[in-house]
Amino acid sequence: MQLIHCPWCGPREEVEFHYGGQAEITYPERPAELSDQDWAEYVFYRDNPKGPFAERWSHSAGCRRWFNALRDTHTYRFLGTAKPGEPLPNTQRNTEVRV
Ligand SMILES: [Zn+2]
Repeated sequence: MQLIHCPWCGPREEVEFHYGGQAEITYPERPAELSDQDWAEYVFYRDNPKGPFAERWSHSAGCRRWFNALRDTHTYRFLGTAKPGEPLPNTQRNTEVRV
């Protein structure tokens, strides 16, 4: 078991958290104007990289707040967490991640 750093509560056991999907997904400005294909891609299509991946997590058994995390999908190791709107650490990425 590993510890996940909640930006508000600090390190807690991973059983207190729930995965919330890929970060960096923005709601379309005019969803009614999207084609069925574009809407399906917004709703269902997600990246599936091997390596660092920006995700949303909830500290569901703690403060119940959402936050962003950079997690290595190959090792499952968390590389950093941040409150929404704050930058994630620039770990093995070329640019700063802001989600
Ligand atoms: Zn928390």
